[in-house]
Amino acid sequence: MQHARCAVDGEVWEAERFAALPAAELDAKRRSLSCVQCDEFAWFRKESTHGHPAHFCAHHRDDCDLKVNYVVVDDRRGEPSSAEEEVEAGDDIVVRLDQERGTAVDVTEVQTPPMPGAGGGGRTFAIPGQGRESAQHFTLRRILLRLIQSPDFRTSRRRIALYRDEKSTLVRGEARDVVAAFDEVRPAHNGETQLFWGPIATAGRTADGKVWLNSSDRYQGVSVAIFQDIAEEFLSTFNIEDLDDLEGAHVLVAAKCYVAPTGKIILYCSSPKNIVVRRYRDARLQAEL
Ligand SMILES: [Zn+2]
Repeated sequence: MQHARCAVDGEVWEAERFAALPAAELDAKRRSLSCVQCDEFAWFRKESTHGHPAHFCAHHRDDCDLKVNYVVVDDRRGEPSSAEEEVEAGDDIVVRLDQERGTAVDVTEVQTPPMPGAGGGGRTFAIPGQGRESAQHFTLRRILLRLIQSPDFRTSRRRIALYRDEKSTLVRGEARDVVAAFDEVRPAHNGETQLFWGPIATAGRTADGKVWLNSSDRYQGVSVAIFQDIAEEFLSTFNIEDLDDLEGAHVLVAAKCYVAPTGKIILYCSSPKNIVVRRYRDARLQAEL
């Protein structure tokens, strides 16, 4: 779409004019965008190398006139049908993070988060198959899909367990207790390791090599920090060649939450096994590629 509203200045911006903003202003304002009609989360795409002009996208409400069809990017395994989901609705969701295909088990502990910008954290990770999502990613992806589609699931007593190995769990409990949307994170989450999910407005990389996935103001500006030593594997697992490709994506991450005294919320991801992204592309644009 050509227009989006920015909560920072209250203005309705046209995409080309928005693209011409100074970099720092653009970076701040693109985290505060919404659809001019349905007011849902929106994001900005700059002019692409494929020649698509700058534009805005949004996760519109179903009844929004500006709604466009999105296709999910690189969903290689396909998504479970609603019928399959119904059948499994009564079962616990168990994710075994150690079951990498034929590869040695090496799941990192969630580390004590360093201060932002201080570097450190994480450790070298045994590389599994390049550019391939594993079985546990598929299960995490199903959880993310349910979170997106079903408000009932978010507050359900459905049991979720993420096992590091046979003996220890990373996250275990009922969905309503162990999963929080970005806008539900509270100071009480500080230091807790659990599942968090929400949309990404911007993505970037700091000089220390960390990849940062930043949500928008309406999601408390929550950031997911992916440690430098797993950044490349994260990018290759999800076939991300350009960080801009992550804009608008939904992310689900098992992470340790850090709430700074300033209120800034950072979710530290220390293993590529603990995160999935669901990317979207305008179906019309994909047809032109
Ligand atoms: Zn809309």
